[in-house]
Amino acid sequence: LLSPDLINKIAAGEVVERPASIVKELIENSIDAGSDKIILKVENGGINYIEVIDNGTGMNEQDAKLALVQHATSKIDSIDDLKNIFTLGFRGEALASISSVSNLIIHTKTSEGKPILAFNKGDRIITEHGPARNQGTSVIVENIFDKIPARRKFLKSDITEYKNILNTFLKIAIPHYMIGFELHNNSKVVYSIPKVDSLEKRIVQFYPNLKDRLIRILFDDKGLQISGFIGHPEINRKDSNIQYIFVNKRSVTDPIIAKAVKSGFGTNLMHNQYPIYFINININEDKV
Ligand code: ADP
Ligand code: MG
Repeated sequence: LLSPDLINKIAAGEVVERPASIVKELIENSIDAGSDKIILKVENGGINYIEVIDNGTGMNEQDAKLALVQHATSKIDSIDDLKNIFTLGFRGEALASISSVSNLIIHTKTSEGKPILAFNKGDRIITEHGPARNQGTSVIVENIFDKIPARRKFLKSDITEYKNILNTFLKIAIPHYMIGFELHNNSKVVYSIPKVDSLEKRIVQFYPNLKDRLIRILFDDKGLQISGFIGHPEINRKDSNIQYIFVNKRSVTDPIIAKAVKSGFGTNLMHNQYPIYFINININEDKV
């Protein structure tokens, strides 16, 4: 029988493939907590340091402790809830898994409560009174896989890991335009982007060159809405880097949809050219 700690470390491989997967889980938690400002700070491609700071609901002491327990979640209660998931997370695994392969500290405060620190010490979860802070939560993750050299070996260079983080950040920040985001890499501010009231404004925040060169698309039929923007054919690219598909604001990659978009461009697309697109498919959660 494997020890609980070893079970966690093995299971963690599913959640924590690389620093970008940690970034995804932490930002999604901040979104689920109702934040409208989220700051991401990374160092050395996230391998040494990841911090996500939000202004969401925060957690009280009891919840901060539970947050680090495997299969503990505030997002679903019963099997029926699985049919209607409106949050990005629901498995209650991310923080426990990340914590088992790194040094993780939660610093959190609810509107009325006192500031709390929560972290693992050996097999125990410790909570204590923390330094003053505003309402919200910061999660700091340091030294990923330090204790598991076999996994650390699979991490790529800092630059490659950072590129993955940047892609993950964009995939989440673009559809969630009602949230302000900051990205700091090795103490340099890469993006500092206020919240806006439309997808179009958010796209232009990240891609200023696309201003006035976006074509709105909209398809609306029973229970299915496809909306977003495609780039004007004159600005097609030599690579497929600016192609985003979301299902209910979750980023997906789908070759069938990609092919459909490409064929929609028809003869406007020359050989070796790739269209630009930001497409959100809205569909009832119970149909996903
Ligand atoms: P899940 O998101 O699937 O529920 P996680 O392990 O990611 O599982 O988080 C566990 C729980 O910790 C969440 O259900 C939530 O209640 C709480 N939590 C995590 N991050 C935050 C945050 N940034 N703000 C408030 N609560 C959080
Ligand atoms: Mg989560």
